[in-house]
Order: sequence, then C-alpha cells, then structure tokens
Amino acid sequence: MAQTIGTTAKVLTCVGHSEPVELTTQLATSGEGEVWCTNWPGYVAKLYFNPSPDRIRKLEVMVANPPTDPNAAINHSSFAWPKAILQDASGRSLGFLMPEIAHSVGLFDVYNPQRRRAVLPGFNWLYLHVTAMNIASITQAIHAKGYVLGDIKPQNILVNNQALPSVIDTDSFQVRDPQTGQVFRCPVGSEGFTPPELLGRDLAQLDQTEGHDRFRLAVIIHLLLFGDQPYKGVWTGWGDSPDPNQLLSQGHWPYGATTLIQRGPLTIPLETVHPELKQCFLRCFNEGHRDASLRPTPGEWLQALKLAVADLKACHRVNCHYYSQSYGRCYWCDRKKNLGVDVFPKAALSREQWQARNQAAAATLFKPLTHAVTTASTYLGEQGAKLSWPRSQWTELTLPKLPSLTLPEQWIKYAVTTGIASTAILLVLLIGKVLMAQEDTESAVFGTLLFIGLIALWPRLVKPSD
Ligand SMILES: [Zn+2]
Repeated sequence: MAQTIGTTAKVLTCVGHSEPVELTTQLATSGEGEVWCTNWPGYVAKLYFNPSPDRIRKLEVMVANPPTDPNAAINHSSFAWPKAILQDASGRSLGFLMPEIAHSVGLFDVYNPQRRRAVLPGFNWLYLHVTAMNIASITQAIHAKGYVLGDIKPQNILVNNQALPSVIDTDSFQVRDPQTGQVFRCPVGSEGFTPPELLGRDLAQLDQTEGHDRFRLAVIIHLLLFGDQPYKGVWTGWGDSPDPNQLLSQGHWPYGATTLIQRGPLTIPLETVHPELKQCFLRCFNEGHRDASLRPTPGEWLQALKLAVADLKACHRVNCHYYSQSYGRCYWCDRKKNLGVDVFPKAALSREQWQARNQAAAATLFKPLTHAVTTASTYLGEQGAKLSWPRSQWTELTLPKLPSLTLPEQWIKYAVTTGIASTAILLVLLIGKVLMAQEDTESAVFGTLLFIGLIALWPRLVKPSD
C-alpha cells in the first residue's frame, strides 16, 4: 500500500479545486502515512497508507469547518489544518492538502535552555510568555469550533523566531460531525501531558472534553515559563520516588497542599511569574487535579498571560533578562549570582530585537528631553532679553572674561551657553545609561568617549567671544 502512494499516484485531484496537485519530494514517513512537498506553493500533502471511510469523513468535516485563525491577519498559519481532500485518478480519497509550516522549530528547542541557546539565541522570557499566550489563543480558537486537540505535546507545536506557534498533526484531533453528531476520537496521548483522570484508560474508547485539553495546555505553559515539567522535584516521602506518571496521577507537584515533592535546587520558583499566572497554575494542578471544570480555560490563561507580558521589565544588566515587576527584581540575575546558572545568557540580539530595544530606548530618551526643550524654548521666547539677574559669588568667579559685553547681554549669552552645554551633558548621560544597560563593551566605550569629548569641549562652549 505504501509503495502505491509513493511511486504511482504522483498527480492527485484536489477536491473542490480545479488545479491538480503534483507530489514533488517526500518529506517524512510514519506508521500511518507519508508527507509530501507539492507543486502548490506553501502547501504539503499527507497521504494515508490505509485511508478508512471514517478517516476521510473526519477530514471532510475538518475541511468544511476550519477554526478562525487568530493570526490570519499577519499571514501566519496557526495550525496545519486540512484544506482539501486529495484523490487519485479513480476517485479514491488518499489524504489531504494542508499549509506547510516552514522556518519553525519544535517546542522542545524553545523551552529547553541548552537547545534554545543553540537554536534560538536571544529568545528570552518575554518571547516565552508571548509563545505561551499565542498557544492559549490558538487552543481557544480550536475549542470554539468544538474540537479537542487531544494530543497536545511539544512535538506537535512548532514555533518561529517571532514567538508564533503552529499546531501540527491536526488530523489526530477529536472531531464531532455537526450533521450526524458522530465523534471521531483522538486515540493517542502522551506521557506527562495526559490528565490524571485519563491515565491508564483506553483513549480510543472515550470521548474527550475541553477540560482534558486544559490540563495539557497548563503543562505546556509550565514547560515554557519554567523550562520543566510541573510534576518534578525532590521526593520527601518513604522509599524511592515514584515514577513521573505516578507523581502526576497523585498530584505531587511542589505547590500541592499535601504534596510529597519539594522544589529542586534549580527549579524556578512559582513566585517569579505574575500573580495571575501563579493562580492559574495553582487552580489547574491543585483544585483542578481531579475536577477538570476547575482548570483555567485557554481564555483565562490568555488574559493572565496578557497581564504578565505587560508586567515584564527588561533587566538593566543583561540584555536577555526580562523579569516580572510584581516579583520586584531580576530573578535571572539572582539565579546567575546564587546558582551560577543563567538560562537567558547575554546574546547578540537579532535585528528585530535591536529595533524593539532602540524604540524603547528612544522613547526613554526623547520624551523627557523634548518636554524640557519645549518648556525651555517657550520660557526663553517669553522672557527674551528681559533677563536681568543679580550677580552672585559663583558668577563672579566664572564671568571675569566678558569685558566687552554689557551686563544683560552677558547674562543671556552665558545662560544660553550653559543651557546648551547642560542639555548636551544630560543627553550624553542618558545615552550612556541606556547603552550601558545593554552591557555591550562597544556601547560603554562609545558612551565614555562621547562624555570625555564633551567635557573637553566645555571650556570652548563657555569661552566668551570678543
Ligand atoms: Zn538580570
């Protein structure tokens, strides 16, 4: 059967479209079928070895009822959703056409610090929050159409360098036929992501609910924000630690009410995330451990993550550190100092990251300066030559070299010169502050040289002209 697909049926009919689909290069093969590149730009084909009538009907329902892609406006495919059924010359349905997810890496490469450093350097905690936010938003969109993802796991989520995820393997979702009510189940699950109430049960024999997905979503978000599974830590009970599935089944995670697990020395504390996120994790893994209805919905995660993203602040010491302001200080700097481990080490920033940094820096610099210059110029414009201040001891010391000017003119000239010089020094100090925060040697050297240059220029600026 596999050979039939791979060698003979190279040109297929795309149901609902007049143009045929030509298979070009085989991308992957698995136990259930093959994935091929096609002559349709941006689309790949998945062909089953044994396309049963149920499988094809499930695909037809999916093709007819796609979820609304929350990232459609930015031309991003959030899910590799079946676009059309593919048939051979005899009209036999073999599989489907779906969008190709290019330039992305698996979720493991994103949340694992070692892999992240190698594959996506500079992908910081802000990016991880945004990735989690987008996954919650995509899950919400899929649930809104009545689908259950069923097998949420890192291998089924790809992420690009803009923190935009795409869910793949969508044909494994649980699908309900809106016309007949028939449920096409998701028979597969993954260890570490299956909710406790489904452990040890035959998934092919039961209908799943959104509540089951909520557990899986929480584990995925935990992986992104903390770099590890929630059901892990130092066992404090008798004997050896149970295996991870038993820990999950019994609800032993470091923040459980009656847990026998303590946080490990390298585990990132729950307090580092925004309080709303902390509450979501507590709700899912404590109250929601046995009662799926108490677990936060994707929409609740989305709201909490939006708040958390708005609360993140850039660290002044390391360019890849972002920390929750509600936590009060940069946890990553503390961790680097106390444990000698930095999961977000300084990295050469990408063009987009530099642009974002520069925009933030420009806003920091120019807002107060523009205000000060506007206020000063308005004041000078109003006061003009009326300035006539009394002499002070300080001005006696600095103004003896202005003999040819009359007193009011000297004052105006001196005030303007001093104003310009002070503003320039302030500007240099502010630029230095922003640049030094990047911890880049070249920026620090540039800032220092600029400062020294201005100090050297100072006597010339205030030197009276004849
Ligand atoms: Zn820091």
